[in-house]
Amino acid sequence: MANTRRAILNWCDETLQTALFKDYAPNGLQVEGRSDIRKIVTAVTASRAACDYAVSQQADMLLVHHGMFWKSEPLTITGWKKDRIATLLKHEINMAGYHLPLDAHPVLGNNAQLASRMGWTLDKQFGEQNLLNAGRLKTPKTLGELNAELHQKLGRVPVAVGEETRVIENIVWCTGGAQGFFQTAIDEGADVYITGEISEAQFHLANETGTAFISAGHHATERYGIQALGEAIQAQFGIETVFFDEQNPA
Ligand SMILES: [Zn+2]
Repeated sequence: MANTRRAILNWCDETLQTALFKDYAPNGLQVEGRSDIRKIVTAVTASRAACDYAVSQQADMLLVHHGMFWKSEPLTITGWKKDRIATLLKHEINMAGYHLPLDAHPVLGNNAQLASRMGWTLDKQFGEQNLLNAGRLKTPKTLGELNAELHQKLGRVPVAVGEETRVIENIVWCTGGAQGFFQTAIDEGADVYITGEISEAQFHLANETGTAFISAGHHATERYGIQALGEAIQAQFGIETVFFDEQNPA
């Protein structure tokens, strides 16, 4: 028996507490398809490749972390955006996105899932909408060792700024493009701040404050929340979910 889109998305909204967040993208349904759901494809981003994969899988829903409608973007449906949406509409595939609520969820979220993959202790969530996370490595490591472990587990070469031999124990992290929160991590007294991206300014702050900085990849650090959400939906509703990964170096 098929489940309805409404039942699944209501459950997601409740589980992820979407109403509590101020986001710059709509959370939940972004493109409407058929109402009965038998198969879901999950992906980090609703890219053209992810849309095409959902078609190839005969999925009824594409469920993502990064949807297609951001406040900073033009409102028009043209060019690449038209092509993605046309593909979804033609095949009646729903597209739903969960952004900040899926970063912050204490179990399914990107931050919590990254910590569990890396074996980090999560002591507290804090800062802007509880998006920052403070915790500890189970055993102290040098910055070089931590960097190598991130490389090995996430499959992407991180960018690290700081003394390679510096011993790391207390960490602060936020997945994705959260380099702007580096000062908050410095104020927290972290040995290192780990996020997905780096901009020019963080190199200097890391050198001048002694708090190391690791950019481990936006895509690479945000692969795990949407997979955990898909697995939770599969457990709750008995719906087949398949994760689509992309080799995104950013
Ligand atoms: Zn992101």
